[in-house]
Amino acid sequence: MIKKRNFDRPVSFWLDEELFWEKNRIESCLTIILRTRGCYWAERAGCVMCGYNVESDRRITQQNVLKQLDFVRKEIGKMEKIGKLEKPRIIKVFTSGSFFDPSELSKETRSKFYDFVEEVGAEKLIVESRPEFVKNAEEVSEREFLLEVGIGVESTNDFVRNRIIEKGFTFESFKEASKFLKDRGFSVKAYLLLKPPFLSEGEAINDAVDSSRTLIEGKYVDIISLNLMNVQSRTYVEKLWQRRFYRPPWLWSAVEVLKKVKGLDGLIISDPVAAGKKRGPHNCGKCDKEVAEAIKRFSLTREPKVLEEVECECKDWWRDYILAEKVARVPVGF
Ligand code: SF4
Ligand SMILES: [Zn+2]
Repeated sequence: MIKKRNFDRPVSFWLDEELFWEKNRIESCLTIILRTRGCYWAERAGCVMCGYNVESDRRITQQNVLKQLDFVRKEIGKMEKIGKLEKPRIIKVFTSGSFFDPSELSKETRSKFYDFVEEVGAEKLIVESRPEFVKNAEEVSEREFLLEVGIGVESTNDFVRNRIIEKGFTFESFKEASKFLKDRGFSVKAYLLLKPPFLSEGEAINDAVDSSRTLIEGKYVDIISLNLMNVQSRTYVEKLWQRRFYRPPWLWSAVEVLKKVKGLDGLIISDPVAAGKKRGPHNCGKCDKEVAEAIKRFSLTREPKVLEEVECECKDWWRDYILAEKVARVPVGF
């Protein structure tokens, strides 16, 4: 049965905590996932791991999006009335594509979100965009709040990004977008993908660490978010996974990358999605929850000892797995 979607409701929204890294504080954060017409790149080619467009629909109009904003406004108003709301200092507005793509959110619609951030009294807005649309961030210059733009660069290696992930933009265009944003005082967050298909576990760790080094040393980003692959429906990665040609990364691999990048003096965070599930990053099954929690905790506190404290016998299996997959080129067990 196909679930009927309500175009006037966001995909989801919730309140939690986020590291306000500019102020070195943990702050309350409102995240809104909007339902839009979707990422234009997904219609043309699409990235091999992306299933975000499942939530989008070409029939969604700007009026629908504004109704979604009204819905969130009313819901948080209700929470405030019953004293359940800690005023969010940070607001994240994510679409299934690019916040600054005018075909997803028009200039007028975007300005209503800026008004909302000011109305709530939040100090920071976080959005995501492909590099080709970031010029529209200029419109935020006059606003009172800070802006952070997340860009899914995935890897700084053009072969990995474009030939494997099929991202459709070069590292050069990412660097131009980053410069444009930084010149205007905005922050840049780079999303890196841990374990694109066709990379062994060890190669994936090296690619994430090398990419982080390039981003940090070139001063292209303020913060890196390490995204651990989870197998989304109706994607190319799902086809590989179903045929046992792909295994999502071990959580130990993420721990390894975080430790190494912290050593480069870089600001890196990660929030593992679907951790411990077959489709998500996982270890042996026994320690998944604990290791995923440690990764989240590290991302809030930036305390390396949080990562040192977790242990499990499967760490040795993970080390063997790295060696075995290097030779086998396909997942071996687990
Ligand atoms: S650019 Fe982003 S939203 Fe668009 S297809 Fe790729 S991962 Fe999905
Ligand atoms: Zn384990």
